[in-house]
Amino acid sequence: MSIAENLKHIQESIISAAQRSGRNPDSVKLVAVSKTKPAEAVKAALEAGQRIFGENYVQEFLDKAQQLPESVEWHFIGSLQSNKVKYLAGLTRLIHSVDRLSLAQEIDRQWGKVAKVCDILLQVNISGEATKSGTTTAELFQLAREVALLPHLRVKGLMTMPPFFDEPERARPYFRELKRLSELLAAEKIPGIAMEELSMGMSGDFEVAIEEGATLVRVGSAIFGERYYP
Ligand SMILES: *Cc1c(COP(=O)(O)O)cnc(C)c1O
Repeated sequence: MSIAENLKHIQESIISAAQRSGRNPDSVKLVAVSKTKPAEAVKAALEAGQRIFGENYVQEFLDKAQQLPESVEWHFIGSLQSNKVKYLAGLTRLIHSVDRLSLAQEIDRQWGKVAKVCDILLQVNISGEATKSGTTTAELFQLAREVALLPHLRVKGLMTMPPFFDEPERARPYFRELKRLSELLAAEKIPGIAMEELSMGMSGDFEVAIEEGATLVRVGSAIFGERYYP
């Protein structure tokens, strides 16, 4: 199937998942994850009406962004080293993967230099797997309070990546837990923290994530095909 056909199919699945859980389909945005795929693939998706794209690697993102119109809304979703943040300043609309104060401080500093404010999500490692990035549930509230004080950052919500399961149903408890955490955090009413977005769900489990409240689903291989290198 073509990229346009894949997108159409996923948009339909998003609408049905939203409807069967009593949600407005417009409350769910699709982030097309284009990591390792060429600019031509992004162009094909763009022509099919896709606007938001997610990238994981700084250099790859910079190369690709240069070849694409400025109307593309880029999200950074991968683990991010502080020393690379300067290359992203002002270019990415949302960073999904902020998991530590030092990274937030560097984003604040670099966005300050370009006199802009960066929207971010706090990434939570709910499973506690050592191989996954993200703050622990225990540290989330403290991190949120500290990040809230940074003037060039705005916390828009939370992001998580559950362990990999063949059976999407098994990811449901992780999605439900992220939603619960966002409600707890919202109840704290920390100035500067909005809990509007929940970034969860990928090719294999985005429908379950939508049923559990996802507002941003990050879908790569189901749109662009399998990836053959990391
Ligand atoms: C690669 C990636 C995705 C997309 O994964 P697919 O299974 O290809 O849909 C989503 N989120 C993050 C953080 C990723 O690194």
